[in-house]
Amino acid sequence: MRDERYDILFEPVKIGPVTARNRFYQVPHCNGMGSRYPQSLAAMRGVKAEGGWGVVCTEEAEIHHTSDLSPYLEGRIWDESDIPSLARMVEAVHTHGSLAGIELVHGGHNGSNRYSREVTMTASDMTLEGYEPSQARAMDKQDIANVRRWHVQAALRSKAAGFDIIYVYAGHDLTIFQHFLSRRHNHRTDEYGGSLENRLRFFREVLEDTREAVGDTCAVAVRFAVDELLDEDGINFQGEGRDAVAMLAELPDLWDVNISAWPNDSQTARFAEEGYQEQYIKFVKSLTSKPVVGVGRYTSPDAMVRVIKEGVMDMIGAARPSIADPFLPKKIEEGRIEDIRECIGCNICVSADYDMVPLRCTQNPTMGEEWRREWHPEVIPSSESSEQVLIVGGGPAGLEAARALGQRGVSVALAEKTEEWGGRCLKESSLPGMSSYKRVSDWRIGQLQTMPNVGLYLASEMTADDIIEYGVQHVVLATGSSWRKDGVGRSSHKPLPGIDDGLLLTPEQVIAGERPQTNMPVIVYDDDPYIMGGLVADLLAGAGYEVMLVTPFPMVSPWTENTMEQHRIQKRLLTLGVKIHPNRQAVQRLGGALEVACTYSGAAEMLACGALIPVTSRLPEKTVANELEERRGDWKAAGISSVTRIGDCNAPGLVATAVYAGHRYAREFGESINPDVPPFKREMIQLD
Ligand code: ADP
Ligand code: SF4
Repeated sequence: MRDERYDILFEPVKIGPVTARNRFYQVPHCNGMGSRYPQSLAAMRGVKAEGGWGVVCTEEAEIHHTSDLSPYLEGRIWDESDIPSLARMVEAVHTHGSLAGIELVHGGHNGSNRYSREVTMTASDMTLEGYEPSQARAMDKQDIANVRRWHVQAALRSKAAGFDIIYVYAGHDLTIFQHFLSRRHNHRTDEYGGSLENRLRFFREVLEDTREAVGDTCAVAVRFAVDELLDEDGINFQGEGRDAVAMLAELPDLWDVNISAWPNDSQTARFAEEGYQEQYIKFVKSLTSKPVVGVGRYTSPDAMVRVIKEGVMDMIGAARPSIADPFLPKKIEEGRIEDIRECIGCNICVSADYDMVPLRCTQNPTMGEEWRREWHPEVIPSSESSEQVLIVGGGPAGLEAARALGQRGVSVALAEKTEEWGGRCLKESSLPGMSSYKRVSDWRIGQLQTMPNVGLYLASEMTADDIIEYGVQHVVLATGSSWRKDGVGRSSHKPLPGIDDGLLLTPEQVIAGERPQTNMPVIVYDDDPYIMGGLVADLLAGAGYEVMLVTPFPMVSPWTENTMEQHRIQKRLLTLGVKIHPNRQAVQRLGGALEVACTYSGAAEMLACGALIPVTSRLPEKTVANELEERRGDWKAAGISSVTRIGDCNAPGLVATAVYAGHRYAREFGESINPDVPPFKREMIQLD
């Protein structure tokens, strides 16, 4: 059972009129499901409660149709008709003895009301977020009174849905109360503008209203940004952030504090360590007697105990660690620390919210699949099959397939040609800031080593001959992929003329430690929207090379806007002295120069090039697959009944996609799958 050092984590915590059974607090987090997929949402939240999170919250829930966050799929509590969906989630959380919290939101100028077509309103006349061509209007006194009333109505509906904790939300630069509080956004001259006391008035009023309306039975929490990392321009933990907490100190039943905006709060592991918010939030407890929740991607129980004992916070807030491992608390409680599947801080979960699709996770392939596929993060039905599986390749796809098949009791052999497990995760973990990726393979190997039905074979390159000789019923090829050397990528489906007219290195070669012998600039030609181009440039600039990053995109690593890292990546490269050439398509290589053309005008330019590293696209590693296909006639005699490619050797993609592919193979093993219909339940909208 659990180590007594961790007892403190399981102490109950009184939050106003309700009590949480322990200190594990799943803070509100977006999930790409919201009001559109309520059953999926309820099942996902229910699994967190089952896994031991003492409090489980919704994502932001719009209180009114004047705060319509479309197209994003957030929670919604506009009127009575939203109650049943939310009550479903509450029921799922209560079933496991946890408290359910709801984060009410009015989004101010963050909500563009694309669905409701209402005119957006906020503290002052101003533009909407992003590229929205419309503006928001300044609220008058009637608007303020209306929002106060709507918030109360939403709080009463939340109470009717059964929620135990109701939030007044002023964080992430996403809410009207923070907009009023901010000098940046609030240019008013009435009693809601000017001094901090005035700018805080609206938030205070709503907090008081909410307490009065529901505070007898529900805890009223605030989610509050104590710092915006904007120095004097923003709320700041040494200035107005601190003063605001002092002014409202005892008013809420709980302080859920963090740094704003969302890209600061949910930084990736590449840019922030576990516990990165402590320095900003630790003052809060000195100003209030109410419980304080903070986040910081905590996955280690020792770190959790430390922050509680040091008085940084009372409850361990988590979004991502609870996504990567919904059973994290239970594993600590049962003394199974080594079973914790630690978040790697990659923010693929965040990308799903931006993509408006149900949540997914690199580490936890069951995330978002709890309802539609009935996948439980800890339980997989045993397999009836006595047939054996040989998996070739020990990267994320192969490891997860072996682990999940092993969990099902299937007899598995996993063969990896190199002397270490992990495939691309192992390699890429040596890149700057990427060490957490090794958690993907480390956790899986740790689990596999406890499974007597799984044979693990390193330094075991398999050829088609070996596989046929091995004689096994099911062969899974998880042999990965490699970066192309010919320049074929997204912006050009043709090889780059003259690409090898000079030093040429692939990302794999750079990762393996090869360095170009040149005094001239090294060009990273980055035609891949994700992180590799930026990482290679980072590594080489750090090694002292003069590096140019040339890309047809308007920015470096554009897809990382979905993981909220793009700004940080570009800033870091500029700080390292990397010269970035956006909107430039490679045309041809001529010895010591790369000819590039503007993607808009076509205007050509020659760039000095001592070595070229194309980061364009990857080729699946299909050698073994092709050889096996050529010998299909021998399969029957060898006893082979299926050969399946999974992960990058099927179609290169994210690590999350490879893990999911491995998991899916294992779940579907021995099942009859009808390819004519979707392999999951769908949430249908009821017609009138
Ligand atoms: P994925 O992301 O799909 O898991 P990776 O590239 O991360 O792909 O991992 C593929 C793994 O397969 C690598 O560790 C590689 O060494 C291994 N591999 C490739 N070909 C063979 C082979 N013929 N026999 C055994 N292992 C192989
Ligand atoms: Fe953590 Fe990445 Fe999973 Fe998000 S997707 S919870 S950051 S491992």
